[in-house]
Amino acid sequence: MVKQKFNITKTDDKNFFIKIYGGHNQIGGNCVVIENEKERLILDIGLPLTDESENSLDIDMKSNLKKYLPDIADLYTDNPNKKTAIFLSHAHPDHFGLIRLINKNIPIYTASETIEIMKKGSKLLWDNLYNDINLIPVKNFEKLKFGAFNIEFCPVNHSITGACAFKIEDKKSHKKILYTGDLRLHGRDKDFIKSMIIDFKNCDYLITEGTTLSRGCHKYESEVDIEQKLTDTFKKDKLTVIACSPLNTDRMISIYNACLKSDKIFVIDPYTAFILDSFKDKKDIPKYNSENIKVYFVPNKHTKTLKEDKTLYKFKSAKITFDEIMENPQKYVLKNNSKLFNSIIKRINVKELNLIYSYWSGYLEDENYQWAKYKKDLKIVHTSGHIIQNDLIELVNKIEPKNIIPIHTTKNEKFLALFKDKYNVISDIEI
Ligand SMILES: [Zn+2]
Repeated sequence: MVKQKFNITKTDDKNFFIKIYGGHNQIGGNCVVIENEKERLILDIGLPLTDESENSLDIDMKSNLKKYLPDIADLYTDNPNKKTAIFLSHAHPDHFGLIRLINKNIPIYTASETIEIMKKGSKLLWDNLYNDINLIPVKNFEKLKFGAFNIEFCPVNHSITGACAFKIEDKKSHKKILYTGDLRLHGRDKDFIKSMIIDFKNCDYLITEGTTLSRGCHKYESEVDIEQKLTDTFKKDKLTVIACSPLNTDRMISIYNACLKSDKIFVIDPYTAFILDSFKDKKDIPKYNSENIKVYFVPNKHTKTLKEDKTLYKFKSAKITFDEIMENPQKYVLKNNSKLFNSIIKRINVKELNLIYSYWSGYLEDENYQWAKYKKDLKIVHTSGHIIQNDLIELVNKIEPKNIIPIHTTKNEKFLALFKDKYNVISDIEI
């Protein structure tokens, strides 16, 4: 069990607390508790990215995850002694990864897109781990009441669809708290800041992520720049293979738009088609039945699972075979998966491919990582899902909070350096 790492008990109201169990001086493992005398809100309950020896942690690990749970004894019993609700900001494991270990009666509020991703991911990736938890969908800008708390879901842009910030007001202490979750302003949309500020300018506490302050890079391309770069490289007269995540929907839009502009056909696998089909209301996100999209039924375990419950047949109208791709390879941009890649490199030399890597380049430093051996052949086209320094300054200056609590960063001292002249930065009240 993880003890509180950090708390804000030195507030002027003894019945109002902010406690941080995970994410303080740490990237990943977010878990923030906001409580008054009677009610408790848990904002995210994430798994750390790595263990103490820097080995990656996976949410489907059967053992050992209990030690990362927050040390809130009654969270695991049938009758919590405080009225409790969980709010998930988005469907990244470092924000929801421990959810299956808590009492199943506790309500979990999150965006409907997040529920879709968790359920579909559960079916294909996570061994049905999230089928029996009490997930309740919340619409964008919906305002919930939970005891004396009001909570509003504000959609933000991040490297996954459905990400939300939370505007929280405790009617008893009159405290206002804005929790950003993970967000960025260099995605396709930054207008969301306006909705974050309405009624929350000068809020009491801004609990904000600061991931990129730890990565020491101040310049990032926008998602629109990424789309242009992809368009330019897709124009090559070669077969393009792109390593990317279907959960990164902003990136899926960039790849798809670049295919349309360069007159290429985007070939996705059934797993990708299945995930993207969740977002029917979002017209920009490519689907199996969009123009210039084909689905290759790669023979892997995801396709097998989708075949077993007949979901796969839905994608039949868009089906393309491996031989059809090989007849005219330069016409296609293939979303990578390992089975497909192994088949391709038996037919085409890696040097003859337009091989694109659209993830954080830091992963390539791990020698055991599947792409590490192709490092020299890869063209990296990527931008971060997290807010960059200058945009963080813009965000803070628009909100003008009374207090800033940095989270999801290992550089609290940078927050102090950037903001302490104008704002109160609370970063060092260790327990
Ligand atoms: Zn995230």
